[in-house]
Amino acid sequence: MTDKEYYDLIVIGAGPGGYVAAIKAAQVGKKVALIEKENLGGTCLNVGCIPTKTLIAHAEVLEKILHAADFGITTGAITFDYGKMKERKDGVVSKIRKSLEGLIQANGITILRGAAQFTGPKELKVKGIDNRILQGESIIIATGSEPVDIAAIPCDHRKIFNSTSILEMRELPKTLAVVGGGYIGCEFASLYAELGVKVVILEALPTIVAAQGAAISQVLTAAFKKKGIDVRTGVSVEGVDVQTKGVTLRLKDQGVLEVDAVLVAVGRKVVSQGLGLEHAGVLTTDRGVIEVNEKMETAVPGIYAIGDVTGKVMLAHVASHQGIIAAVNATGGEAIMHYEAVPSVIFTLPEIAMVGLTLEQAQEKGYSAVTGKFPFQALGKAVATQETEGFAQIVIDKKTGQILGAQVVGHDAASLIAEPTLAIANELTIDCLAETVHAHPTLPEAWLEAALLAMDTPIHFPPKIKK
Ligand SMILES: Cc1cc2nc3c(=O)[nH]c(=O)nc-3n(C[C@H](O)[C@H](O)[C@H](O)COP(=O)(O)OP(=O)(O)OC[C@H]3O[C@@H](n4cnc5c(N)ncnc54)[C@H](O)[C@@H]3O)c2cc1C
Repeated sequence: MTDKEYYDLIVIGAGPGGYVAAIKAAQVGKKVALIEKENLGGTCLNVGCIPTKTLIAHAEVLEKILHAADFGITTGAITFDYGKMKERKDGVVSKIRKSLEGLIQANGITILRGAAQFTGPKELKVKGIDNRILQGESIIIATGSEPVDIAAIPCDHRKIFNSTSILEMRELPKTLAVVGGGYIGCEFASLYAELGVKVVILEALPTIVAAQGAAISQVLTAAFKKKGIDVRTGVSVEGVDVQTKGVTLRLKDQGVLEVDAVLVAVGRKVVSQGLGLEHAGVLTTDRGVIEVNEKMETAVPGIYAIGDVTGKVMLAHVASHQGIIAAVNATGGEAIMHYEAVPSVIFTLPEIAMVGLTLEQAQEKGYSAVTGKFPFQALGKAVATQETEGFAQIVIDKKTGQILGAQVVGHDAASLIAEPTLAIANELTIDCLAETVHAHPTLPEAWLEAALLAMDTPIHFPPKIKK
């Protein structure tokens, strides 16, 4: 260990929370250190958002090619090489990781490679490639989360995978059981089903994607069944037997299930153990979650926590936004985290995206809520591109016209959700949306039409009461 080094701000963990916080603080001239024990970019870049969406992009291309004949295009026999898809995915991740390193360095941030551990409220030691003792005026904990393991289904990472190790798979199994029907399990189920794998989802709760509400769950279950995914709910896996050829899953009261491979996707646990939090006086819940206030401060002055480790909303863009809030507060400014307009996306085929309140949530909160729901079938661009599955729905308060929420199912829902997110974040009313000129022919016109429907003045949809 060398002498102590002093920084205005030390950030532990270089995921989308940590590196964004570091950049924000460096922008106002602060001396910043960013400590990472594995790869820059964290879960999101290395084993989360980016690798999964890269693999899903392959499935989308394949789906288009399989429908080429509908567009008058003749193809030969269509084959693909999953190993090459995996290689492309690795290439995308390492390209972005390299750019990220350049970006962090361009901001004058010191990157330290190693595991950080508190030795006091303002002091940390780093152990790894770099070995240092650091002192910081402020410290941001951004250590993220990792897959939950369950004793009944131990991962061997050869036939029984978690969401990290399945990304290393080079050959597709013929059959795959996905244990856990949350958004991560469903995204993998959708991906592999599109690539021809026979997929069964085993979910212990009565519905898949339960956290996203009943309506979304119904839409996704129906879409999955149409695609041949076997969705089994209310199912518990009691144990597994790894065979020479595959895996036998023992189901509670429902016999056994033989598959080639298993993905365990039963949730994420926060990473806060081994950080020496006791030396800093930072308390955690019994699940290890670091509790913070709306400024992202822990109970210890000068120590902040952001991202998955705070157990709030485990999404990359939430971690990044929390990172900005924490960095502003840690560098003398004032900012508060709001969660009313946080979009979330399920990258299945079809894509599903939502923001704000559902109709039921709005009604529960006492709004006189109504919806406007426009099907993509009625949209010129969607018909032209043969992307007619799904709808865009807007939830408003009938009394004030305030836009409260939006849900969209269908092609590029992930991009489409940006417009209502902006509207909700800025507390816009439905006439703002209805009076905005939307380019034609485009998918965002669905929001204009949904707004007109919510106001009972539809243009491209029959009136509720026939004239
Ligand atoms: C399969 C999958 C798909 C996902 N898809 C999406 C998606 O499409 N969209 C979305 O918004 N979110 C998605 N997520 C969630 C997203 O990845 C996380 O919400 C996000 O990465 C959280 O960011 P973070 O900065 O809090 O933590 P992380 O990204 O987990 O980063 C934490 C970092 O801290 C480092 N670290 C931990 N302890 C120490 C220590 N003691 N010293 C030094 N470094 C340490 C870790 O090595 C890690 O790099 C997905 C997650 C998974 C698993």
